[in-house]
Amino acid sequence: MTDSDFKKTVLDTKSASFCAAKWYNATIWLGSGMTTSCHHPLPHKVSQQDIEQNPKALHNTTQKKQERQQMQLGQRPTGCEYCWKIEDIGRDNVSDRVYKSKIYKLEDLDRAFNTPFTEDINLKTLEISFDRTCQFACSYCNPAFSSTWVRDISKNGPYVGLESDGRNHFTHNHDSAQLYKFGETNPYITAFFKWWESDLHQSLDELRITGGEPLMSGFTWQLLEWFKSNRGKSKTRLAINSNLGVDFDVLQRLLDACEGVELDLYTSNESVDTHAEYIRDGLNIFQWHYNMVQLIETRRLRSLHVMCTINALCLDSLPEFLTQLLTWKSQYGENFPNFTLNILRFPSFQSPLVLPQELRDKYRANLQSWLNTFENHVFLHPHEKNHVQRLIDYLDTVKTPHSDSFDLPILQKDFKRFYQQYDQRRGKDFIKTFPALADWYGSIQI
Ligand code: SF4
Repeated sequence: MTDSDFKKTVLDTKSASFCAAKWYNATIWLGSGMTTSCHHPLPHKVSQQDIEQNPKALHNTTQKKQERQQMQLGQRPTGCEYCWKIEDIGRDNVSDRVYKSKIYKLEDLDRAFNTPFTEDINLKTLEISFDRTCQFACSYCNPAFSSTWVRDISKNGPYVGLESDGRNHFTHNHDSAQLYKFGETNPYITAFFKWWESDLHQSLDELRITGGEPLMSGFTWQLLEWFKSNRGKSKTRLAINSNLGVDFDVLQRLLDACEGVELDLYTSNESVDTHAEYIRDGLNIFQWHYNMVQLIETRRLRSLHVMCTINALCLDSLPEFLTQLLTWKSQYGENFPNFTLNILRFPSFQSPLVLPQELRDKYRANLQSWLNTFENHVFLHPHEKNHVQRLIDYLDTVKTPHSDSFDLPILQKDFKRFYQQYDQRRGKDFIKTFPALADWYGSIQI
């Protein structure tokens, strides 16, 4: 069944806004006690009082239950705006609610839709973060998700003059992202391990560990130790998000701990060479390539995914990057690697929509030409083609990164103000790294 047919015949026949992620999927940041259904809606707080009585409340929050009710009634939860924007483009575009729902069985979708919204639901796919320890400080990340970003702000002070950074991503240390110091008891982590030991290790199809960089967290290794000491007790697949900025020995330790467990690895990148090292500060592109190939060649992974965060700076080399991924696919098979293109909305001044029309048109044409060349590539998955096509359509039709974003001139000024400070703090050089953007960048008056 095509993605479009799935939307029409499976989702829309339940309601015009039904998405199974609201029931079966969650990301939970245990360091801050926050959760969301998928990466698009903004996170909200989990009640500490609730999890003390019932660890399942880590996922079944009052807010999610209300949103489930909205979806049962065909109303659109505002937090899911990312999907509504893609669907409102028309042209038969499908949003992530299709991809996030079609991974579950049809009977599970029926059950979710028919379960009273007040009831707790057992998760099927869960992403957890134990803490924000990370050795990278990517430009589109912030101190809430990276301890290296915290060090930038602590050492150099806040980024100044950003008018559109309403959420103050770059002005403070985000202490609320790490409520408990190392050595202190974190009740959210306690609740997670309690839930895991009781029934989560049996009911969950997939557990994905994210960070920070999860391979730098002691709690990740504690959980991996559980798998090692309880071989065969859980059928849960494991997935790890890793920036691959570690020695291969660490990845080998991961593979050894997961012996007998199905393992997927997710990594991030969206551009090549100096572009990648500029955007993903801390990355050594040679190490990333080396680890990709070494991991694939162990043949221990079920699949290797590359998550591309589509921002204004990656579009110049995105087609070249996608060609690199296809070269690996040709050599190693369709799932080595897979890729997704996730269009960045926050911080909005780093959105691809901040680029002037002529650059957007140029990059859209480059992507179209890439798609024309490779659309019949035997290892390109349908969802990968759809992601490229929807990015082309996004660059063509969408005007603002999100509904309450600032006007373009303000976003462009912030773009320049941010990267000027980023260059200074990180020893980088925007103009040298992105010559194709230099004229436009130089013309922005701040
Ligand atoms: S943003 Fe989209 S995919 Fe995520 S929960 Fe909402 S409808 Fe589902």
